[in-house]
Amino acid sequence: MALLVQRPKGTQDVTPKESCKWHTVEQITRQTAEQYGFSEIRTPVFEDTGLFVRSVGDTTDVVQKEMYSVTAKGDASFTLKPEGTAGAVRAMLENGLMNEGFPQKVYYITPCFRHEKPQAGRLREFHQFGVEMFGTASPYADADVISLAKTVLDRAGLKNIELFINSIGCPACRAEYHKALKEYFESYKGDLCETCLSRLEKNPMRILDCKSPVCSKIAEGAPVILDYLCEDCKNHFESLKDILSSMGIAFTVNPKIVRGLDYYTRTVFEFVTTEIGAQGTVCGGGRYDGLVQQLGGQPTPALGFAAGLERLIITMEKQGCEFIAPEPCDIYLASMGDAAQKKCVELAVMLRDEGFKVEYDIVGRGLKAQMKYADKINAKFSMVLGDNEIESGSAKLKNMKTGEQTEISLGEGFADAFSDIAVADMFNLKSDTL
Ligand code: ATP
Ligand code: MG
Repeated sequence: MALLVQRPKGTQDVTPKESCKWHTVEQITRQTAEQYGFSEIRTPVFEDTGLFVRSVGDTTDVVQKEMYSVTAKGDASFTLKPEGTAGAVRAMLENGLMNEGFPQKVYYITPCFRHEKPQAGRLREFHQFGVEMFGTASPYADADVISLAKTVLDRAGLKNIELFINSIGCPACRAEYHKALKEYFESYKGDLCETCLSRLEKNPMRILDCKSPVCSKIAEGAPVILDYLCEDCKNHFESLKDILSSMGIAFTVNPKIVRGLDYYTRTVFEFVTTEIGAQGTVCGGGRYDGLVQQLGGQPTPALGFAAGLERLIITMEKQGCEFIAPEPCDIYLASMGDAAQKKCVELAVMLRDEGFKVEYDIVGRGLKAQMKYADKINAKFSMVLGDNEIESGSAKLKNMKTGEQTEISLGEGFADAFSDIAVADMFNLKSDTL
């Protein structure tokens, strides 16, 4: 079949067969965030373009190459959110939530949009689970957030995920570091890509994150930030390492991690797997102590992370992790004739009110085809209604797995009677022992 219109490149459909995978990760992430005391925040899918330019940074790949921006009917420019932090910070400020005492802790599950070259684990529309914590500079907060991320990955059942941490210092120590980096990269000016040449002046640290093979080769020999940390940043990083160790969270210090967004300060971290190819960063985050002020708020230390849900799901699939299975149908009500079908509708309403998953024929099929459908949807029980059953006021309930049949009345006690049998079956009991 030649489709007239196809989905845009770099986007995915989640079909009913796949949606249980999404329910699984959504449930794990939500539950874990709530357990750690985070509450959900929802922000618009598009924001003023200026929000991302100010926060993510105008020398980053995201802002320079990847934003989906439109100029709407007026003259304002809007951008589909490429990440979740900027919108969350804006919403916290705009709704006065920073005045409601600290810490403030929020989480979100959101679509994100980046104009990237699509490949496995790299899409143009993808989804992030993210958390943000405001109002604490304590390294215990960093460890708490890292522990939350690790708990999510553990509960998803993932193995062999490595945690890398680094500190990229504060503006004070970074000034010295920038100088050293600039000196280093100046001597490779002829080899750097064009984007990095412009970064050399404005933001040399961005060169460390360049994906071009030549630039990343040059970056390998660059000075490392850890050698330039001021006393406060050094102590903060040492404390974080101590706390993580005491929590039993294994980590590796990796001075190469700088993260792709400009707002980070001090702690940065990534959870990485080598099992899904090059796009192995499942989760990334860190501190952004300057961002709240940069967006017009009071100076407020803050931190967070975002996990890519597609990458999380791909890794779970690869490792054979379990997904929550969809609930099977409790009962299929088959019918012969108009009167029987009407009765099925009435019984279905009663059963659905009691919380059971019920289906009946809505296509107009014959009995044989109806029973075939009951098999296909894995119905646990079935019942056939015809003129005889309507007349007698009772019908045979069939357990589709064991073939066992029980006569039950179609009167007022019907839902209760079915409930007893279904519960007994669930616990593998004979219904008369309940
Ligand atoms: P990468 O280095 O892989 O490009 P990033 O540094 O751009 O990642 P962040 O901005 O920190 O990523 O986003 C957090 C998480 O969101 C990533 O760790 C990843 O799991 C996911 N992610 C980022 N970009 C994409 C994308 N284009 N497609 C799918 N997932 C993505
Ligand atoms: Mg990226």
